[in-house]
Amino acid sequence: MRAYKPEGTVGFVPTMGALHSGHITLIEKALSECDTVVASVFVNPMQFNQVEDFDKYPRVAEIDAKMLYEAGCHALFLPSAAEMYPTGKAELGMTFGKVEQVLEGAFRPGHFSGVGVVVAKLFNLVQPDKAYFGQKDLQQLAIIRQMVKDLDMPVDVVAVPTVREASGLAKSSRNQRLSPEGLSEAAHLYEALHAGAGILHVNPHAAAQTAREVLSLRPGWKVEYIEAVNPDTFEVLSGRDLPHHGPAALAVAAWLEGVRLIDNIVIV
Ligand code: AMP
Repeated sequence: MRAYKPEGTVGFVPTMGALHSGHITLIEKALSECDTVVASVFVNPMQFNQVEDFDKYPRVAEIDAKMLYEAGCHALFLPSAAEMYPTGKAELGMTFGKVEQVLEGAFRPGHFSGVGVVVAKLFNLVQPDKAYFGQKDLQQLAIIRQMVKDLDMPVDVVAVPTVREASGLAKSSRNQRLSPEGLSEAAHLYEALHAGAGILHVNPHAAAQTAREVLSLRPGWKVEYIEAVNPDTFEVLSGRDLPHHGPAALAVAAWLEGVRLIDNIVIV
């Protein structure tokens, strides 16, 4: 990658492929701000804590390449696992303190270490000026920001709002694994968040409770967590009946038809 040194600013969009219009929105944002835009597609084995989830992750590199080309992306980095991890695994690990002790970090042990290591490697290989991440993976965004700050990486991290279907369902590569009925049921995840978000500042604890109740009335869901958090520190806003000042997020992870879906709403 380093042999190619374009003039001007380089924007970078790391992905795991099976691209959809959410990813393309990140590409478009990068194109609007940078001279050259590089995307990567790499299903990173080190960030999956379940072999089955890794095996079932959709891999459609040729379609991805076509979508990127049509969007105007200048380069695609498509490394193999052997190129990224010559010894078969990442020997290095990363920890992120309090930010990773809750929600995704608590339910997916080792996930953020895998994310941090692969993003650090990709930053070193691509050497971008700006890197674009979706707010859909809100906790990932927080750990990347922390890594860049703590390691003084010369990269601006840019957050891009979540792109949704007309139904409200957040676009996700994992949606492909849902049946048509599952796809329409999945929209209730956003409905539940929306119901709680209205009172997020007034009473974060009740907001999470409201969202939990809405989802509990729907068939087929297995909720891992629904929590109100500070979107920067991921401190859980659990004080009962206490108002919260400043940004707040309501974040959820839930299973439907054996597919793990995550989503969040941030209110500033
Ligand atoms: P992934 O391929 O799922 O690892 O996602 C690659 C990047 O695209 C991450 O920064 C995600 O947060 C972002 N992304 C995924 N889905 C969406 C979406 N619906 N809206 C905005 N960004 C997204």
